[in-house]
Amino acid sequence: RSAAEHLDALVRTVPDFPEPGILFRDLTPVFADGPALAAVADALVAPFADGFEVIAGVEARGFALAAAAAARSGHGLLLVRKAGKLPGATLRESYALEYGDATLEVHADQLPAGSRVLLVDDVLATGGTLSASQRLIERAGWVLAGTAVVLELTGLQGRARLAGGEVHVLQQA
Ligand code: 5GP
Repeated sequence: RSAAEHLDALVRTVPDFPEPGILFRDLTPVFADGPALAAVADALVAPFADGFEVIAGVEARGFALAAAAAARSGHGLLLVRKAGKLPGATLRESYALEYGDATLEVHADQLPAGSRVLLVDDVLATGGTLSASQRLIERAGWVLAGTAVVLELTGLQGRARLAGGEVHVLQQA
């Protein structure tokens, strides 16, 4: 089965989660299925060939995908964490949520300057999470090699908030 076939079979749509009116796409069945996880991890990195050294995953579901992709492709893993979790010197980027805001961090000295980083997450919704992650990569002195997500919710137009460079999406909804 291809990644797209696995996603068609396994992604669940859950109404009114985590709040009334939200149609939540649940990827946990993909994570729980070995062949599906492998196919999706491989498909995320496929277009980027060897144009990167490290895969960055965004907490928390992006960690699972990025770690699988990094292990299968033999690349390192960079954690883009929620605020307050990383012990070393960090860079921080905040972005607005519907209610309040959120902050993401990376270890500022995690990679050599100029390292090419492929950024991975599960879902592109409004784009706030991935655009903040892209800013962290740039500010740290690394190069954004591309951005890859499993699912793009096109109605929210998050892609317009992202930096230039290739945005690779496995499925749109
Ligand atoms: P954004 O910042 O683009 O609005 O939201 C993207 C972030 O919220 C991603 O890190 C993603 O994990 C999470 N997210 C938003 N909507 C969904 C959804 O329907 N399903 C899942 N699994 N995650 C979502």
